[in-house]
Amino acid sequence: MTEPEIVKHGKENGDGMIIRYQTRKGTDIFGLGIPNVYSGTDWDLGPTWCYLILNECTTLIDTGRHGNAEFLETLVDLTGITIDEIERIIITHGHEDHDGNLADIFSRTSSQLWAHPIYEKMIAYNTAVSGVVKNPAFPVSCWHCPMPPEFNKNCLSYQKKRSQLQVDVFIGHREEPQMERWDFFHTPGHTPDSISILLDKEVLFTGDHVLPDITPHPSRSAYFENSRQVLPLDYAGQNRVYGLTNYLKSLQMIKSLPPEWLRVIFPAHRLFYKNKFNLIHDLRQRADDIIQFHIQRCRDILNIMNTGIYNVSEISVEYFEPSLLKGIGGKFLAENEILSHLEVMVECGDVKWEDFYDGIAKPTGFHRYEQAIRKYLSNDHIEVR
Ligand SMILES: [Zn+2]
Repeated sequence: MTEPEIVKHGKENGDGMIIRYQTRKGTDIFGLGIPNVYSGTDWDLGPTWCYLILNECTTLIDTGRHGNAEFLETLVDLTGITIDEIERIIITHGHEDHDGNLADIFSRTSSQLWAHPIYEKMIAYNTAVSGVVKNPAFPVSCWHCPMPPEFNKNCLSYQKKRSQLQVDVFIGHREEPQMERWDFFHTPGHTPDSISILLDKEVLFTGDHVLPDITPHPSRSAYFENSRQVLPLDYAGQNRVYGLTNYLKSLQMIKSLPPEWLRVIFPAHRLFYKNKFNLIHDLRQRADDIIQFHIQRCRDILNIMNTGIYNVSEISVEYFEPSLLKGIGGKFLAENEILSHLEVMVECGDVKWEDFYDGIAKPTGFHRYEQAIRKYLSNDHIEVR
């Protein structure tokens, strides 16, 4: 893809920047860089890129981190339309850096809300659930949030407002409306409700599913057991929406789309960073690279365990740079990353839990993770011991 036009320059990471691209069918797309709280730390994602699409229905994809509604409104104004002209808001997934301003923006428009059916279940409170969840008083999407309590309290008012919303149109689902310009794909794994959005059979908005430079944190397959109680029935049987293997499966799915649909990729982070565009020119290659990256990460973790380090926290200290372990939740994010890979290796029998609650696991001597992942990508189930 060629570089989009820069309508407004922002910071070197893309904060406050506006870009423009026009599809061959004449649809105008504006990308808006909305600041993100992680900016300035070593887990820096850069801003959340929200996209404003001007065609038969003025559409906003994602709304950015909570507390930035006015910032978003200012950038929308600079594109030549006003916030109240937005007719449809599409949410790629229920993370606070994507739907954080949804309730605020929604109340200033008469727009419809479009999202995956799982999203509507995730934004609701459900205290009747049985089993152990970390944050039972929070909406389902936040039950297992790895971030520390001092971070979570920033989200309380956002969660409350968001829980009162209803999705008008379900997408990425078998009953979605048939439309000429739009196609939606359920691409779970980073979160169970993640979708990717195809516009004019030319531009794919990937949310956090495929990013340049970095790869999103996979969710944990362990979360399925609690969440299945609230998932729509279609998704409550076998786990197809949580965990690293399902994330990789969604990459495989995206790879199978016709190449002509993947001409332009607009991700939700790192579109522009360190004063330059990070364009994904070949989505299939990028998806392959990410799959390979996670297989390598399994290998590295197993190698660390083979030196006698069995504790998840100690493995993460050994694996990650010290700078990634500091800051808001750095340690929690790092451990969560290790755990999502350990889950795959436990499932195929390369690793066995000694003490799950203390986070101690030992290698069994097998190295079947790559074969198990490849098999899951080509078939439908992971090889069990
Ligand atoms: Zn996310």
